[in-house]
Amino acid sequence: MIDRYSRQIIFPGIGEEGQRKLSNSYVVIIGCGALGTITATSLVRAGVGKVRIIDRDFIEYHNLQRQVLFDEDDIRQQLPKAIAAERHLKKVNSSVEIEGIVADVNYTNIERLISGADLILDGLDNLETRFLINDVSLKHKIPWIYGGAIASEGMTMTIVPHDTPCFRCFSSSPPSGGVLLTCDTGGVISPAPFIIGSLQSAEAMKILVGAEEINRDVITIDAWRGSFQRFEIFPRENCPSCQGKYEFLDGKFGLRTTSLCGQNAVQVLNTKVGELSFEELAARLKVLGKVTYNEFMLNFTVDSQEMVIFPDGRTIVKNTNNESLARGLYAKYIGG
Ligand SMILES: [Zn+2]
Repeated sequence: MIDRYSRQIIFPGIGEEGQRKLSNSYVVIIGCGALGTITATSLVRAGVGKVRIIDRDFIEYHNLQRQVLFDEDDIRQQLPKAIAAERHLKKVNSSVEIEGIVADVNYTNIERLISGADLILDGLDNLETRFLINDVSLKHKIPWIYGGAIASEGMTMTIVPHDTPCFRCFSSSPPSGGVLLTCDTGGVISPAPFIIGSLQSAEAMKILVGAEEINRDVITIDAWRGSFQRFEIFPRENCPSCQGKYEFLDGKFGLRTTSLCGQNAVQVLNTKVGELSFEELAARLKVLGKVTYNEFMLNFTVDSQEMVIFPDGRTIVKNTNNESLARGLYAKYIGG
């Protein structure tokens, strides 16, 4: 076993002591897209003792361009991402306890899902759940590493509770839905998440071995331009999360989904959305599907899915009773 890790044990930042700490660590990865597949791969190969991978989605062909753990066979077998990741990684390192969980992480289940973790890694595609991770991280004193990538750009930040500023110090609340680019509307090239996922993995190793030189800045990269920047961040005096008001964990904000009985439709409410600009939203969505709108509602059809969006962000996803699917479509196309 030592031989397997010999190259990182020689590395002074880790050493034998660090390797032991890695093998006694438990990491939870929330979201297994491009970032999650990179961090899961790095940490399982590095010999972290236990890795839990949580994701709500199935694999689609357009994921294969950047989500390195998956292949065409996984799609033929219709595997959820969490299960495919678990199967592939068990073949990579059988000494690591790997657990794939298919779930939509929300304020009702997150505390149970992260219980006992030494570290949480963000591989999400929506901001809402990141604020939830931030709350749970501060409440249970578990560090977490934010990562995001879109188009050719990416950003990462390390949050150590009651030491570094938190995510809500940095970004006070999620921007209104509709103004955010998502991977489906802004596109993404694989080098952006690869770089960010790699930075997250290095931060994870540092935290797990107890290194002092953790990253205290926000790091942004542009893989296309080849640029790399750091921004210093500061604690925000009136940050609710730092003051122990866990509004996202308490379910005060955020997405609410309700299956509309007898209509085969799910309503998604997002209390954080301000007034939507249908003009902007239509411009983004029309390259992906069919869009029509008037001043009262916007109708968007993509593949077999039809969504009706109202100016306050309320959305009806038609032809389904699956709330998790509806939340996913909302995050994918509306944002937030
Ligand atoms: Zn804060």
